[in-house]
Amino acid sequence: STFEDLKLKEELLKGVYAMGYQKPSKIQATALPLLLADPPKNMIGQSQAGTGKTAAFSLNILSRINIAQKTTQALVIAPARELARQILDNLREMGKFTQVVTSLAVPGAIERGEKVSAHVVVGTPGTVMELIKKRQLDVSKIIVFVLDEADSMLDQQGLGDTSVRIKNVMPKTCQIVLFSATFPDHVREYATKFAVNANTISL
Ligand code: AMP
Repeated sequence: STFEDLKLKEELLKGVYAMGYQKPSKIQATALPLLLADPPKNMIGQSQAGTGKTAAFSLNILSRINIAQKTTQALVIAPARELARQILDNLREMGKFTQVVTSLAVPGAIERGEKVSAHVVVGTPGTVMELIKKRQLDVSKIIVFVLDEADSMLDQQGLGDTSVRIKNVMPKTCQIVLFSATFPDHVREYATKFAVNANTISL
């Protein structure tokens, strides 16, 4: 299939082609029609590292943002700052022909008491939760919530508690998207409770 088949907006097609992508990877071709369906459904997507998961969830986000609305509409959480930064860079490059504003959630913003004002916010769970608690990040208009490396994000010995606390303050109608290279059995079971009635992809 082609990116045109995925019915992406013109400015997003320009973005992916400018990045040198010629056609969608398998996870992109499989996930995007499901992610972009109306009404939105949750997703649990499994595919190996390096198969293009970042672009899959980023294109869903960039397609769904209403530019005219200045509120935060998408939140991506990832287990490490460096990964969050890479996701942000990817979103920016892919969205460079759009007016979508993106922001990295950083601890410095908490200390300075700054409001996070961006259509899309990317960060680690601890920092994002702090910003929400201190009311520096308004989550009331979020329509897409993505957990990258969901196996770590849902780990009950690790980040799982914080991920659940964040999910619990998301609007009830928000689309929940879990992507991971692996879903060990106990994590998959947990994931199906976290993202109810999800479309499931396993490549
Ligand atoms: P990821 O699995 O998201 O870490 O992506 C792995 C690598 O594949 C990154 O360097 C992406 O820039 C690249 N990539 C993602 N989608 C495509 C595509 N459709 N065509 C070519 N390269 C891609």
